[in-house]
Amino acid sequence: CPQDELPIPQLRIEEEECFHGVLPREEVQRLLTEDGDYLVRESKNRKTNETRYVLSMYWQGHKHFIIHGAEETGWRFEGASFLPTIQELIEQRYMSGEPVTNKSQAILKKAIVREDWELLNDHIHLEMQIGNGNFGEVYKGMYAPKNMVVAVKTCRDTLSEDQRKKFLQEGRILKQYNHPNIVSFIGIAAQRQPVMIVMEFVPGGALLSFLRKQGKQQSKRQLTQMCVDTANGMAYLEGRGCIHRDLAARNCLVGDNNVIKISDFGMSREEEEYTVSEGMKQIPIKWTAPEALNFGKYTSLCDVWSYGILMWEIFSAGQQPYSGMTNAQAREKIEDGYRLPQNSQTPESMYKLMLGCWEYNPKKRPHFKDVYDGLKDALKRL
Ligand code: ADP
Ligand code: MG
Repeated sequence: CPQDELPIPQLRIEEEECFHGVLPREEVQRLLTEDGDYLVRESKNRKTNETRYVLSMYWQGHKHFIIHGAEETGWRFEGASFLPTIQELIEQRYMSGEPVTNKSQAILKKAIVREDWELLNDHIHLEMQIGNGNFGEVYKGMYAPKNMVVAVKTCRDTLSEDQRKKFLQEGRILKQYNHPNIVSFIGIAAQRQPVMIVMEFVPGGALLSFLRKQGKQQSKRQLTQMCVDTANGMAYLEGRGCIHRDLAARNCLVGDNNVIKISDFGMSREEEEYTVSEGMKQIPIKWTAPEALNFGKYTSLCDVWSYGILMWEIFSAGQQPYSGMTNAQAREKIEDGYRLPQNSQTPESMYKLMLGCWEYNPKKRPHFKDVYDGLKDALKRL
């Protein structure tokens, strides 16, 4: 990518700072904001499945130019003449001030280089599989430049660009958050397949497994502290208009000193209210509020319902909620007014809070800020 006064090194296009790899079109568009901004990315021809290079730029709107050619023949945008490398082709347009194509009249002004969250695939070493995701496996690994242990969610390379976009949605959401009770984002590696989301590695693993193994040994105080942590993270998300939609013990992680970190933002949305119309296949019925199940209407108050179930999981050593009932039966019982019972380990005040989270009318449920304040109070009294 030519930049003023810098010599142009002979790198492979993949190594160039302005090469963003297989990052989906929507993601790269976010990086291009002013007339003349440009970068290079890779995409797949839907029909032939062939890999091709694309010059994406901003010129009175987002434009994408396919770079035609091959290693052997050289590269061009249009016309008969080819240049030996993609860099030379771009350099030619940049230096001469000639438009990329005649029709577009678009002129290259500023190469947009990778941001610090755009990691190089080669810098990430996968070491051990620790989970199985919707889109691909989850690994423990190493982020070499920082010598840092990380968790890596991968996206199977057989998935379509559309699926890859959905996969990356999780990274895009996490990228904006910074909170002790939310798993931290390190970056996305999308230079080539498989695309990866890289996060801090949380050593204690999933809260659900922790509860099943060690839940009975925890004091009421420790269990309440876990509820405080989750409420703290959720209050932060609610304040930023993020609906998680899959809050459950299986999607929380246990960190050092048993600090809880909310994770798995694969279903989350940044909207005040989110309505789903597609099939309900993927929905965790036993954790989901009635209005979301019945009308597909999601708000942070639905997360509050799920939070009540999560509290129940915490105080029952990770039991399955509504065990012995199918999803459909549980749903029907809830409609009839049934709620999960209080078990012997659950303090009265905690159970009351759960019942508040399970108010049928979402408006009667507390917001996370109230839950958090209430729990902090309860903790003082324990
Ligand atoms: P999925 O989309 O498959 O539900 P999750 O984000 O829930 O993916 O991750 C699956 C499992 O991988 C988790 O239950 C947990 O055991 C492990 N895992 C995920 N992220 C981390 C992390 N940051 N640190 C440690 N383990 C993790
Ligand atoms: Mg999960």
